[in-house]
Amino acid sequence: MNATPTRLNRGDTLVLATHNRGKIAEFAALLAGYGIRVIPAGDLSLPEPEETADSFTGNAALKAMAAAKAANLPALADDSGFCVAALDGAPGIFSARWAGPEKDYPDAMRRIHDRMGDNPDRSAWFISVLCLAWPDGRTETFEGRIDGHVIWPPHGENGHGYDPIFAPGGGGRSFADMSDAEKNTISHRALAFALFRDTCLPVAA
Ligand code: IMP
Repeated sequence: MNATPTRLNRGDTLVLATHNRGKIAEFAALLAGYGIRVIPAGDLSLPEPEETADSFTGNAALKAMAAAKAANLPALADDSGFCVAALDGAPGIFSARWAGPEKDYPDAMRRIHDRMGDNPDRSAWFISVLCLAWPDGRTETFEGRIDGHVIWPPHGENGHGYDPIFAPGGGGRSFADMSDAEKNTISHRALAFALFRDTCLPVAA
């Protein structure tokens, strides 16, 4: 068995195993400049598998493997979420589902605040797991995490999802108070992508 991760080569095609337009744009930008042709799963009419695993890693692998096998190409997926210590890590892998089909994040953030009550433990973190799957079933996973705390009331105009109630580190500024560029240097997704880049992307010429 070869345990050495396989790098993608310049000229390779990589399937993005997501139908989320925001993620497609974000990954297309991150992958620019490596000479890799990027195809979103939707362009190949690949179905969206249900996220039935009980971990970020399991769900990222499930999505990447389904796309790699169906397309017979390497595929990259990510799974991410917001975890609150006082809620035993919830919403966690259910972060998107907590906001419901209407994607009502103000309501999801309010429920987090209400359930935390006056618990003195305000710590929280974001996790992003990236999985690169190959058609032969091999996978590589990379986890990025950023720790911080829940703030209330929500503030900031940028970002998305739970950004307005999360302040990284011990500071008072939320992710939504930061520009995209500032968030993208420290975020869970940026950390996971840096690990993926160092292990699986072509080495710069
Ligand atoms: P996924 O598409 O299943 O990975 O869902 C990820 C969910 O986690 C999103 O819908 C957001 O609710 C939340 N999430 C992940 N990353 C972030 C972030 O950077 N900011 C705010 N919310 C995030």
